Parts: sequence; C-alpha cells; structure tokens
Amino acid sequence: MSRALRREYLDALGLDSWVLRAPAAAPPLPSLVAPEGSAPLAVPDAAPLAVPDPAPSAGREAGCDWQQLRERVAACTRCALAQTRTRTVFGVGDPAAAWMVIGEAPGAEEDKRGEPFVGRAGQLLNAMLRAIGLAREQVYIANMLKCRPPNNRDPAAGEVAECSPYLDRQVELVRPKILLVVGRIAAQNLLQTTVPLGRLRLKVHVYGPAKVPVVVTYHPAYLLRAPADKRKAWDDLQFAREVATRG
Ligand code: URA
Repeated sequence: MSRALRREYLDALGLDSWVLRAPAAAPPLPSLVAPEGSAPLAVPDAAPLAVPDPAPSAGREAGCDWQQLRERVAACTRCALAQTRTRTVFGVGDPAAAWMVIGEAPGAEEDKRGEPFVGRAGQLLNAMLRAIGLAREQVYIANMLKCRPPNNRDPAAGEVAECSPYLDRQVELVRPKILLVVGRIAAQNLLQTTVPLGRLRLKVHVYGPAKVPVVVTYHPAYLLRAPADKRKAWDDLQFAREVATRG
C-alpha cells in the first residue's frame, strides 16, 4: 500500500493525527508506522478454536434463498422483540462478498431505517472498512439479532437462539472468505465461548460446516467511547486482511 493511501485510510479511521502527534519519547507503534515494504503482520498457525457447527441453519432456514429468507425475517415473531421493533434489520451489501461483518443487534437508528450500522457506530465501521481498502458496498453487513432489544440492552440467550438460524443461512448464502465479528457480545455468541474479547483478538477462529475463518475486533460503538483502542482495532484489521488474502 502506498504511503499516501495508508495516510488516507488512517485519517478515515481517526488514527493518523494521533500517530503524528505522539510525543517524541513515545515508542513507535509498529503496526502504524512500519516502513514501506515491511513484512505484514504474521498470521499464527495456531490451531483455530473449534466452533460447534451451526446446526439450526440446516433445519429451519435450510434451502431458503435470499428472497425467502428476507421475507421470513420481515414476518418473524419467534421472540418478544417482534413486539417492540419498528423494523427488522436484515442485512446489507454484496450478497457474494468476500468479507462479512457481523455485529450484535440493531440500535435506535437501525431500527428506524431497517439497515444495519447506519448510526455513529456505522460511520466508524465504514471508516474501519475504508482503512483496509473496502467500501461498505463491497462487504456484507449483518447482525446477530435482526430486531432491536429495547433500550439497547444485551440480547437474551433465547433471542440469540431464535435468531441465529437467519444469520447462519446468510453466512451460507454469502460464503465469505472471512467473518469480521465486531464486539464482545457478537463474538462470544457466534463462537459460543465466554473468553473475553481481548483474548479472542488476533486469532483465527472458524465458523460453521464451511469452516469460515473468523477474526474478532472491537465494536465501533465501543471505539467511539474508547478511541485509544482504535490502534488495537487497526492491528485487528490488518490481521484480518492477512487472513482474508491467505484464504
Ligand atoms: N450496533 C450493532 O451491533 N449493529 C448495528 O447495526 C448498529 C449498532
């Protein structure tokens, strides 16, 4: 990547000026200031975590095409969120994308508009994607839950169980090269683990019968509250890019 392009990407992520303004005494941040042509982040060969196959997809949503799946989601009353949602939030983007981004659940803005990641967190997600050379339209973006939990509370286990077959089928239809999972809640549910997000980062997990590689990073809403962690997110994105190009 050229220096100018990298500068543009880091600007979009809000990292560039942070790097430039770092005090002289501060150690350089290897992943941000690595010289042109330096070696990419190494992708460890460590055995990926085994994740149980998402068997429910083979049941309820098996064989659904996009249109049928969309209609099922729009009419869904499988959990109580159907009573409080304004709109279901199905997913958006390239249905044959190499990258699929998975978030937690729609927020207020998404619930109003019926599209994932359209609020402030969505704008930061777009910048994160731009930082690795991807336009929002080039990826497929979906959430674990298709309906907004009231007051943005954490999804309940029963809601995840009812809703995840829709996501499983979306993953089967898109057949991405990589799943970029943002945030602890989505990561722990998708990977069926209670391991903290910090220990899920920078590892290649796998998902489903197709063993789609999964990389985990921070949720953009969290990064809005904790901008110092954008540096780590940038490391995660570079790592994910390595994994995607390897696959
Ligand atoms: N947070 C999410 O996890 N998903 C959205 O669509 C918006 C905010």
